[in-house]
Amino acid sequence: MNPAAKIRSFHPPQRVLMGPGPSDMHPRVLGALGQPVIGHLDPAFVGMMEELKDLLRYAFQTKNSLTFPVSGPGSVGMETCFVNLVEPGDKVIVCRNGVFGGRMIENVQRCGGNAVVVEDAWGEPVDPNKLEDALRANPDAKVVAFVQAETSTGALSDVRALAGVARQRGALTIVDAVTSLGGSKLQVDAWGVDAAYSGSQKCLSCTPGLSPVTFSERAVERVKARKTKGQSWFMDLGLVLEYWNAPGGKRTYHHTAPINALYALHEALVLLREEGIENAWIRHRRHHLALRAGLEAMGLGFLVREEARLPQLNAVHVPAGIDEAAVRSRLLGDFNLEIGAGLGPLAGKIWRFGLMGHSCRIENVMLCLSALGAVLADVGHAVDLGLAEAAAHDVYAAHHAEEASLRKPAELKRA
Ligand SMILES: *Cc1c(COP(=O)(O)O)cnc(C)c1O
Repeated sequence: MNPAAKIRSFHPPQRVLMGPGPSDMHPRVLGALGQPVIGHLDPAFVGMMEELKDLLRYAFQTKNSLTFPVSGPGSVGMETCFVNLVEPGDKVIVCRNGVFGGRMIENVQRCGGNAVVVEDAWGEPVDPNKLEDALRANPDAKVVAFVQAETSTGALSDVRALAGVARQRGALTIVDAVTSLGGSKLQVDAWGVDAAYSGSQKCLSCTPGLSPVTFSERAVERVKARKTKGQSWFMDLGLVLEYWNAPGGKRTYHHTAPINALYALHEALVLLREEGIENAWIRHRRHHLALRAGLEAMGLGFLVREEARLPQLNAVHVPAGIDEAAVRSRLLGDFNLEIGAGLGPLAGKIWRFGLMGHSCRIENVMLCLSALGAVLADVGHAVDLGLAEAAAHDVYAAHHAEEASLRKPAELKRA
């Protein structure tokens, strides 16, 4: 018998996604995926592409003409930046404070570049003073690369300071904004960033597999001035742009765009625009504070010090004697709740609670605290059930009281 005959339609379970990505998708974004497929050169599609680029400029806070979604996950956006901006023999300073900085080093080396590594401990933000020292010692460095939101640890680095140091010393910057875009403040133009890449499935809460990128004029000049052809045909900006940025709208085929995924990204960005990006940053912080209060009430300590903590990625130490994988498996099996494990040297030592995009909501925070409390109590970690929810509730209540007091004067004025 043909074994494939037994295979039926696949129906995934309904989960709540509170790991390091993907995040939950808004029903409107899911709905956009189910729209009819049209041709990737159809005038209706081309109109949608123009809007999509504008929406991405809003998300990145930039006027960069060269802003579009690469067809591929965040890793392809990363590689697109490196293969276009790094030529064989170029010196590139990479700041590493977690997994993703390590991947940047790998990218530089595969482009034939010479990577100079500035190390910070996992859980620490990148130190701008160390970058400055490295640039002083390597005045010929052409590019500086770092991660804004290090998803492996939950540390937020200061893009404004780092990009400022790089610019002063004449180096271009490549910023990984995969986990930060839509969740933490990022201002590509005001902060002088030259190239940034992101991912669709983290704080934008879209289907995985797209990577928004943006390049400054200075970066475009650098690409045009290359002496050698980049090693990637698929990621060659000059070729991709004949489709995405063709002068006079005369687009030529490069590769078939992921049509429905792009509808979804368009809708996810319309949602961001409706909320207002500043409000999205504030929302991520509000729910982070509530989750933090609850986690701390259960005796869980954060890996990253307060000032450098990402709201959308909360890394806490696993209490001694607890089998961390068993806890995650209970959360998934009993509560349909996904959280993340530690990577590399932090494997087995931390849990990562994501609050990304559409996942960043009060019902998820409360479910997570309640589910985690129940499971921890079952595996023998002493928790007072209900204390974590009460602590989170206090944070929300204080926030609501503050909002009400801010609203009053305006209402009085109107009356
Ligand atoms: C998730 C992530 C990536 C990789 O994105 P993929 O879509 O998984 O390829 C890169 N950098 C950071 C900081 C990330 O969190």
